[in-house]
Amino acid sequence: MKFEDLNIIAPILDAIKNEGYTIPTPIQEQSIPVLLEGRDVLGSAQTGTGKTAAFAVPILQGIYEDKKYSQGPKQIKALVLAPTRELAEQIKDSFRAYGKALGIRSDVVYGGVNQKSQVVSIKKGLDVLIATPGRLLDLMNQGIVDIRHIRYFVLDEADRMLDMGFIIDVNRIVDKIPKDRQTMLFSATVPKEITKLANSLLKDPVRIEI
Ligand code: AMP
Repeated sequence: MKFEDLNIIAPILDAIKNEGYTIPTPIQEQSIPVLLEGRDVLGSAQTGTGKTAAFAVPILQGIYEDKKYSQGPKQIKALVLAPTRELAEQIKDSFRAYGKALGIRSDVVYGGVNQKSQVVSIKKGLDVLIATPGRLLDLMNQGIVDIRHIRYFVLDEADRMLDMGFIIDVNRIVDKIPKDRQTMLFSATVPKEITKLANSLLKDPVRIEI
């Protein structure tokens, strides 16, 4: 299978080629087509399998296509929750790399650092926000992040999220994002608690196991 067989638009295909990728990884091959159809996905895949591109590419493509019909100031359309700042930074780098030619702005917020530069970036207008749960809730409570226009929601490394005690924060965030959205949940392992979480977040998901 080639990237060309996955219905990816030319500017994103070019960006993928620029990254030096020649063939899609199994998670990309399986996730990209169903996500482009708008389905929810429950993916069990470890880091290192190429799962970031598996969700970033269809989200970027969806935002790009929606943008043709919407004018006006930028609103956050995609939210990715990650358990650690390192992972959140890597996800942001991937969105920027694949979305370079699309005019889509992506940035990241996490705790443990001053929020000032994060607030400046959010106020400039973002399409994609990658966040750790605690700092996102803080910024939501201050009225700085507006999540009313989110169409795409990713919970990455959900099992680590639970292990790190983020479940209450995650549920508080989920309660405030629109129900009419596409949701993707990725987890290295799928214990009972993750199945429960998946059942509450996902609508008729496609299950992908790598
Ligand atoms: P991830 O699992 O998303 O953290 O990705 C792991 C690494 O694989 C990252 O350094 C990516 O840049 C790289 N990668 C992602 N997709 C591909 C691909 N199709 N071919 C080669 N490398 C890739």
